[in-house]
Amino acid sequence: MIACVALIYVRLSFGEECWSKNACIETSLCAAKGGISQPNLCSGGITTRCCSCANCMDASLCVSRGGVPSTGICPGSSTQQCCNMASTSVPTGGKTPVNRMLTDLADILRGAGLTVIESEGWKTRGHGIMTSVKGILVHHTAGPATGDFPSLKVVRDGRTDLAGPLSQLGLGRSGTWYVIAAGRSYHAGATIDDSVFGNANAIGIEAEATGSPSTNTGHAYWPEVQYQSYIRGVKALQAAYAVPTSRVLGHKEAAVPLGRKPDPNFSMDEFRAALAK
Ligand SMILES: [Zn+2]
Repeated sequence: MIACVALIYVRLSFGEECWSKNACIETSLCAAKGGISQPNLCSGGITTRCCSCANCMDASLCVSRGGVPSTGICPGSSTQQCCNMASTSVPTGGKTPVNRMLTDLADILRGAGLTVIESEGWKTRGHGIMTSVKGILVHHTAGPATGDFPSLKVVRDGRTDLAGPLSQLGLGRSGTWYVIAAGRSYHAGATIDDSVFGNANAIGIEAEATGSPSTNTGHAYWPEVQYQSYIRGVKALQAAYAVPTSRVLGHKEAAVPLGRKPDPNFSMDEFRAALAK
């Protein structure tokens, strides 16, 4: 009897591991990829869990069926990807821009009842045209602690190491939106999928916030008027450009290598749940 119990114990302790070390990822990223997180199979932080996909298939087959493929959570070759059919529900009436400047940004936000300040020259500002708008990246500035949008100058003009614009849109603490550029902006860096989340294909929004504390609990430290405006503005952009909620990621979720960026300092699961309402 004792031997039998010991045998079972040995089997459990050696058998229960994540199917791949690389599949031990943040639960929010797993959800964004359409995967399912299982606890107790990975070492690391409490939100690092084993991500698996119930719907793995060749990426091109997924696209031909109308799904959205995501990399990294299916075994086999890199073309085997998680096909997320649920994520294909996109707001109706919108249209993905193709190879153009996003000169309609201010009208889209105003149409959602938001307060908008247009930065002079924004309609021609950018590092070239947008290839598409397949994704939206949510950022915070990690800027000064006071003022509505004190990071405007740096987002518009850039830093010594990176030319502006650094994002198309800014969001002040009062909930006011700042439209800074209609063209490509340098906000994303390397991403999990540049064809969706890279600078040529994703809108960047820099919301004014210190970024402290740099954890998922940050919502409590944001002015609620700003947080609610963030949701409303992103929803309006999704509707206008037909961007599904699964393609609204925090910079911290999209940036590679993972851990390169901490922003935004609120839960993206909570944010996406609000978008879906
Ligand atoms: Zn960022």
